[in-house]
Amino acid sequence: MIDAINTHEEELCRLDREIGDGDHGANLRRGFSAVEAAMGSIAMLDLADATRQVGDILTMSTGGASGPLFGTFFSELGGRLDGLPLEAALAQAVEAVMRRGRSRPGQKTMVDVLVPISEAVSAGHAPGKIKETAVKAALDTMPMVAQRGRASFLGVRSVGHEDPGARSAALLAAAICEAIEA
Ligand code: ADP
Ligand code: MG
Repeated sequence: MIDAINTHEEELCRLDREIGDGDHGANLRRGFSAVEAAMGSIAMLDLADATRQVGDILTMSTGGASGPLFGTFFSELGGRLDGLPLEAALAQAVEAVMRRGRSRPGQKTMVDVLVPISEAVSAGHAPGKIKETAVKAALDTMPMVAQRGRASFLGVRSVGHEDPGARSAALLAAAICEAIEA
């Protein structure tokens, strides 16, 4: 995930310049640099605690509207991985993001990628297929009218642009899927 964000920082900033304030790549870069700095101690934790720790660091360090939302996702996921199967933990983490952002699918946000990922995992799809689903779901935000976050100020002028948070969610999912495949 750290590599994916480093590699795509400029692309994410460009997408955010089109329908936001241009800082999305820089925000995530800051958050994931903080994760990188803590990798020594994160690597000592089990998967659940490591996931939660990543979320807590992202919430504290990322900034922007997206920081606390991605942070919530990983913190809530990590908090549930011990007691629940992955599908259920993932579904509840996505629910927590939607509660925090008062958002639902169709509003041109990261939620439009998180929900299809959660569904693809529940359906038992392989990592390669889940990655494909995520990347396509992000592109599917192009025709949507933004209804949450800064892009919502543009109304119908947000149509025709891929949502930056949807794209970054797809990049993070792709990185996780590639790691599992490897
Ligand atoms: P900011 O908008 O504060 O500059 P970022 O640029 O880092 O923050 O993140 C923008 C992204 O955050 C959007 O592209 C969108 O995907 C996501 N986002 C913003 N508000 C919400 C919300 N209420 N629910 C879900 N996602 C949101
Ligand atoms: Mg922004």
